[in-house]
Amino acid sequence: MTPEENNIRGLEAALIARLGSAAKVTLNDTYPLAKLQPANGNWYYSAKCEQCRSISPAIFDPSSGKDNNPFNGNGALCFACVRCGEDIVARASAIFSYHWIDQE
Ligand SMILES: [Zn+2]
Repeated sequence: MTPEENNIRGLEAALIARLGSAAKVTLNDTYPLAKLQPANGNWYYSAKCEQCRSISPAIFDPSSGKDNNPFNGNGALCFACVRCGEDIVARASAIFSYHWIDQE
């Protein structure tokens, strides 16, 4: 497993562990994430790409949008924009849940 895949696995486990509570997932560092292949109709914690202005998904949201942003701390998620490939560095405060719908 790559460090980027390991970060996904660790964050997904933390997001599942806090479901149903007000607990936050604290980002203390910048976490590079493995490239995601979003599935139509799923919810993802996402951020806006400064390069192409689209919203790009970072990691699966197991709350299906119920918890809009469970992240806090001074760290960030770093991931490639699914539209343009540019690296996005999303601080904890800039992350939000987004319902992914494939566009033609
Ligand atoms: Zn982009």
